[in-house]
Amino acid sequence: MIDREQINKDLYSMREYFATCAGNAQPGSEARERFAGWVKTLTCIAVEIEKIAHFDNVVETPHQVSIVICTNCGKKWVAVRSLTTQNASLKCPKCHRQGTAVETGLPLDPEVTGEDDGK
Ligand SMILES: [Zn+2]
Repeated sequence: MIDREQINKDLYSMREYFATCAGNAQPGSEARERFAGWVKTLTCIAVEIEKIAHFDNVVETPHQVSIVICTNCGKKWVAVRSLTTQNASLKCPKCHRQGTAVETGLPLDPEVTGEDDGK
């Protein structure tokens, strides 16, 4: 049995790892580009998995991917969800509160997602 929640968690960890690597690499370096590329790839995989989850509904649901911030602990993360999912139903991966996520309006940039480890 496939545990999608676990897969999403793993993907999130990997994305955070690569985003941190990108943040630590020299700006404009090849390493940074490589790490940033992986962040994008992992985001694509997360979107794909989310889509597969909705195949059961026959109708393919359009999705949104954006960076949200938890108003409780300040955690920023890349949220992948269907367009019908309210931000209020998102759960913070750090403080685990629900309903505290708001849009940051930030671009999906590893330099942004890399600094979200709550320091
Ligand atoms: Zn939080």
